[in-house]
Amino acid sequence: MLDIESILSHEVPSMCFQCEQARGDACTLTKGVCSKTPETTAIQDYITHLCGRLAVAALKDRTAVLESDLILFNRGLFTTLTNVNFDDEALMRYVHDLAAVVARLGDKDTLETEKDVIDGLKDFGLAARVQKFGATAAGLRETVIYGCRGAAAYADHVVPLDCFGPVAEPTWMMVEAVAELAKDDLDAGALLGLCLKVGEANFAIMAALDAAHNAALGRPSLAPVPTKPVPGKCILITGHDMVDLRHLLEQTEGTGINVYTHGEMIPAFAYPELRKHKHLVANFGTSWRNQRKELPDFPGPVLFSTNCVMPPKESYKARVFTTGRVGWPGCTYVANHDFGPVVECARNSDGFTAESVEKWAGEKDLLVGAMHAEVLGHAETILKLIGEGKLRHIFFIGGCDGSTPGRNYFSDLAEKVPDDCLILTGACGRYRINKLKDYGDIEGLPRLLDVGQCNDVFSAIKIAVALSEATGLAVNELPLSLVVSWFEQKAVAILLTLLHLGIRNIRLGPSLPRFISPEALAILSDKFALKPTNNKDAQADLDAMLAGEK
Ligand code: SF4
Ligand code: SF4
Repeated sequence: MLDIESILSHEVPSMCFQCEQARGDACTLTKGVCSKTPETTAIQDYITHLCGRLAVAALKDRTAVLESDLILFNRGLFTTLTNVNFDDEALMRYVHDLAAVVARLGDKDTLETEKDVIDGLKDFGLAARVQKFGATAAGLRETVIYGCRGAAAYADHVVPLDCFGPVAEPTWMMVEAVAELAKDDLDAGALLGLCLKVGEANFAIMAALDAAHNAALGRPSLAPVPTKPVPGKCILITGHDMVDLRHLLEQTEGTGINVYTHGEMIPAFAYPELRKHKHLVANFGTSWRNQRKELPDFPGPVLFSTNCVMPPKESYKARVFTTGRVGWPGCTYVANHDFGPVVECARNSDGFTAESVEKWAGEKDLLVGAMHAEVLGHAETILKLIGEGKLRHIFFIGGCDGSTPGRNYFSDLAEKVPDDCLILTGACGRYRINKLKDYGDIEGLPRLLDVGQCNDVFSAIKIAVALSEATGLAVNELPLSLVVSWFEQKAVAILLTLLHLGIRNIRLGPSLPRFISPEALAILSDKFALKPTNNKDAQADLDAMLAGEK
């Protein structure tokens, strides 16, 4: 049980429970599990506070709001997402930029220095909010903010692909939701309504990102991904931003430097406009949580294009570069897609040799590219297989990966799924299941289909809706079960989208978010039959899902 009074009595009353790693009920006062310091937490809380004030000021006179203000609103929220930005100097620049916009919109009383921000934490920090609103309302308020952080990240990815236009309207929806939080008297029903509004906004943003990826990078299709490195100089890109990768590929074309994906960049191989670059040679490593184990073995620079960043070890820190919203103190930040310093570092690094690649000689290719257009190209086959009783059930098993032991649940479950069922996967949770075994196929249709990044859950939704239309069954009546691993705020945005769409019986794990109080959970369970994963008995969950448990 959190002792809020005691937290508030500290000099820096830092508290954070936005991600699954939270220590106990929250990370408090000392460094968070992610390595975030209390000072960084204070600045990030103040950025969120300024985004709230920007929202209120914006709604007083929409005509005064510039497109760049809305882009900054999204970027401010994005940079406070778990494992994105640990660089206080960079974060203070967001504070100053947001304060300038807020002042231009008529709200002038903002804090200027890092010291003022840290001193002010007792007034605007999370502990103060929990004390003011109580656990249930404060948790639902945080859910609105966390959902906005995730959605804002996706919206920010659209900007370099397709300008701001397609995400302007859903960003305004988030502005409206965040501005509502300025009211002190919102009850649980009103707050749940705001959560669903953020889910609706995120759905529109994911659709826009999907369209932008398709338009710029070509229609994704099934593609094998090599996982054995090849001899030669090399650059690794991790994170989520496909535009960063495109620039990197263009800037390394003809240099003899090979480019590798890591973590959530692996779906890059699905896009024709990216895989056409022959020096995009392979995926290296697995999910973000294994960075500190895997990256020391990569003999070249590593570019972090977005989350999730772990504290780099000294053995490779000098080779770490960040860009976009990402920052790590002491690592080189690259602006405006000018990856010259990264290329230079690759030239001066060892690269893979014929001997060193032997370590990965036994690695097998992975398959990506099961986005909606590709899977729905097989819709007739899928419907025929369902009709003939050869395809019993479809599972989505994926989401954000993390380090807690209960996450073996997802591999246990995937391993046990019977051979007459398909598994859709996506996000870095894929790495829990994609190397477990050869899943085989059902009459030529691969049993394990990777729909892409976390935002490509949009594809899983499109597939479900298309099956619903073709069979005449409501989505909740389809032989389809969603088992979602959550870790941080993009997963919150996705969950809110699924709830906004009325999807029931989602299993969420490996633990339920700390910021959801028992009372709030009771509301969600009652309305949406949201369930925790049964980490001790994946078979029991599997049996219940196969039996069509509602
Ligand atoms: S982001 Fe997660 S790990 Fe980091 S301080 Fe917050 S709750 Fe703790
Ligand atoms: S899917 Fe989630 S946990 Fe994984 S890298 Fe992306 S944001 Fe991080």
